Amino acid sequence: MPVNVLFASLSERWEQYQTPLLEAFSAAGVEADLRDAFPPEQVDYIVYAPNSSVQDFTPYTRCKAVLSLWAGVEAVVDNETLKVPLTRMVDQGLSDGMREWVCGHVLRHHLGMDAHIHGQDGQWRLGAPALAKDRRVVIFGFGVLGQACGEALCDLGFQVYGWSNSQKSHDRIGCFSGAEGFRQSLAHADIAVLLLPWTPDTESLFDANAFAAMPEGAVILNPGRGGLINDTDLIAALDSGHLAHATLDVFRVEPLPADDPFWTHPKVTVTPHIASETRASSAAEVIAENIRRAEAGEPLLFLVDRTKGY
Ligand code: NAP
Repeated sequence: MPVNVLFASLSERWEQYQTPLLEAFSAAGVEADLRDAFPPEQVDYIVYAPNSSVQDFTPYTRCKAVLSLWAGVEAVVDNETLKVPLTRMVDQGLSDGMREWVCGHVLRHHLGMDAHIHGQDGQWRLGAPALAKDRRVVIFGFGVLGQACGEALCDLGFQVYGWSNSQKSHDRIGCFSGAEGFRQSLAHADIAVLLLPWTPDTESLFDANAFAAMPEGAVILNPGRGGLINDTDLIAALDSGHLAHATLDVFRVEPLPADDPFWTHPKVTVTPHIASETRASSAAEVIAENIRRAEAGEPLLFLVDRTKGY
């Protein structure tokens, strides 16, 4: 008997995912009937994007698990109609993309590339940039993506630190946790990379107090979630000159409205939530493996802890 798998996402994603999912099911030995529409009471698993039309899970009476295509699950984690396990996306393509975006933007600021890209004024100025070994980068949210980025930055020679909920250890990266660890992390952050999930505990974590605790001239990169930052406080910290720049990929409202002050602020770079994207071929393997596991009675990978919110 095949399992019925509903693909609940935008229609353009269906075209992108249908073949990779069917191939991955076949490779994993999962017999599945995959469709983008089913009578709800016939659905066994939902492959899910939180921006799909499925917002009420009540009619999906025999659904065994919801498998998110997104790493960030803040839009679904509090859904009270969802009573079955929820998994989030951990995908090699997502990690690769994030690593490249973070390394690129760290290097931009570290090397002061803007001065040469925008400042070709005929003046021959001496002065080489600092070396990476003399620059401290702190990754706030030292999870799957944070660790991938941190390790790549270590390979480039940066002094890297990671801050997380639970205390971690790493042979090349200094690890902090908890409230005291947060203060220490801020003090080390010549460049701060925000890769935390957006939860009640991380809402506006980066506010005036946090910015004041960062070194003068610090730079913020936010590919995590817009809600991590108090936007008003960020603009004030940039205007005062305490922070040198913010490169923001994610926002409280997306798409970022055309009249948002971030678009025109001289010390802000906006990228349109493109730091990283789930890639169909690798993500399909993760989905197929989780359905295989569920059918075999094995624990699911990347289960969301709904009490923690991520
Ligand atoms: P993850 O593996 O769950 O890592 C999250 C990290 O944050 C973990 O280290 C966790 O600590 C830490 N954390 C959570 N709450 C915390 C708190 N209150 N205090 C301190 N540390 C806390 O998630 P991921 O896969 O790396 O993804 C991270 C986030 O990136 C996602 O939630 C999403 O918002 C964002 N994202 C953005 C894009 C984009 O294109 N811009 C793409 C993908 C993902 P523990 O390790 O101790 O649990």
